[in-house]
Amino acid sequence: MARHLITSAIPYINGIKHLGNLVGSQLPADLYARYQRARGNEVLFLCATDEHGTPAELAAKKAGQPVAEYCAEMHAVQARIADGFRLSFDHFGRSSSPHNHRLTQHFAARLDAEGLITEVSETQMFSHADGRFLPDRYIEGTCPNCGFDSARGDQCDNCTKQLDPVDLIEPHSTISGSTDLEMRETKHLYLRQSSMKDQLEAWIDSKADWPVLTTSIAKKWLNDGDGLRDRGITRDLDWGIPVKKGDEDWPGMEGKVFYVWFDAPIEYIASSLEWVDAGTGAGVDQGWERWWRTDKGADDVRYTQFMGKDNVPFHTLSFPATILGSGEPWKLVDYIKSFNYLNYEGGQFSTSRGRGVFMDQALEILPADYWRWWLLSHAPESSDSEFTWENFQTSVNKDLADVLGNFVSRVTKFCRSKFGEIVPEGGSYGPQEETLIADITTRLAAYERQMEAMEVRKSAQELRAIWVLGNEYLQSAAPWVAYKEDPDRAAAIVRLSLNLIRFYATLSSPFIPDAAQAMASAMPESPDAWPTDLAATLNALTPGAAFAVPDNLFRKITDEEVEEWQASYAGVRE
Ligand SMILES: [Zn+2]
Repeated sequence: MARHLITSAIPYINGIKHLGNLVGSQLPADLYARYQRARGNEVLFLCATDEHGTPAELAAKKAGQPVAEYCAEMHAVQARIADGFRLSFDHFGRSSSPHNHRLTQHFAARLDAEGLITEVSETQMFSHADGRFLPDRYIEGTCPNCGFDSARGDQCDNCTKQLDPVDLIEPHSTISGSTDLEMRETKHLYLRQSSMKDQLEAWIDSKADWPVLTTSIAKKWLNDGDGLRDRGITRDLDWGIPVKKGDEDWPGMEGKVFYVWFDAPIEYIASSLEWVDAGTGAGVDQGWERWWRTDKGADDVRYTQFMGKDNVPFHTLSFPATILGSGEPWKLVDYIKSFNYLNYEGGQFSTSRGRGVFMDQALEILPADYWRWWLLSHAPESSDSEFTWENFQTSVNKDLADVLGNFVSRVTKFCRSKFGEIVPEGGSYGPQEETLIADITTRLAAYERQMEAMEVRKSAQELRAIWVLGNEYLQSAAPWVAYKEDPDRAAAIVRLSLNLIRFYATLSSPFIPDAAQAMASAMPESPDAWPTDLAATLNALTPGAAFAVPDNLFRKITDEEVEEWQASYAGVRE
């Protein structure tokens, strides 16, 4: 039995995510976790919410809530939606947990002991009205280059000139609007990533099997311009993990917190401590260290991370710098699966403009399986992909309703009408069945290969091809014709087809878990293990055993619905 540690990039706390976020990390991670569990492997699948930083503080302020209360509430909302999409996390943690506080402070102490932390004095814009230092993007003013009146402190969106806040004419805080700003000196801790460049590069070079999308982004950050830069890991904020050296105070750093990007990936580990505390890992060995410490049994763990391409630099460089720099035997990632972006109807999803379908809305429209199937079968792997309602309609109606749903419905209803709701006895499999079993055996091997390789789209294609084989078989074997001449022959065809439904339940469960459950529970003997001997699997149901005709697995999406949804989610013009 192999052991798989799987993490999905952790979604930020402020608000509900759109479908592009879902397919960029959580959903394919869930596909892989479900597949590995179905293969009988031991899996620990972790995710969490990313709760620190200025956007969380501002979102809480806007909601009129204390930030801790806001985060607790939004975590519950995101957890409920994740559950709605059947994301099978072993634990869905929180980066603000006490476990992550302790672990982040521990890592900072270790990095300091290894000589990898340096203190840097810098000047930053301080807003008297807001009582805080302002991150560059929360300062706006007139661009000295082109005169654009809402240039940001880091860049002018009109002429693209890179700016410093001090360059702006009449700068103001975008939080309060105040112009009462001054440059003030402040001190921050920096992680000396530059001194680890060779170590990080050697580690990335050792990952010959990683996707080009992942390694090319890492290489760019390692080598472009001045090469890998040291990184500030503290901020002048209230909300976050207090800067401490393990349990000890950090002189000169009083009142500061760690930068959200320093503590967020550490939450992957902290989440497993939360998991142990919560006792949700029933049936799995509770020791978290055997997943994370190579000196405590994690040597045989395969660790896979899923994320959108924008997260790759932090996961290939910053987080490994934290792990390697600690000098302790922590588990490093073995494989990073990264994704491009999903666009929406010829543009981008936009939270602020309400453009596109968000996770909560999607579940109000249709059940999770419809979305899971479309998103996974169109995952933005080799390039960006695009959601359109028409494409969604075509995919659901053809793949799910016409191919899989129709097969299940035809077989079970035909059987009921001729033999009753029992697995029919009589007849035996002949050349047609042998051909089918051989064809599916070939396809099944291909499906397994693609799933192991995390080729999400190709896996969906193989699965669909296996569904199609069943339909083609039923069409050509035509039990409704055979029944008139030779009822035993019809019985054998139907029996094999019922076995196929049970087999499809196992095979389809990583993609469409609810429909798989419906197929499985309709059949008398529940599918337990992944099929290794297909001839035996397709002969497993006991003749004479009772089954149930399941409700239609999928309904079709109408043209009227497509029109309505296109209009509803087009977004409001600004
Ligand atoms: Zn400008």
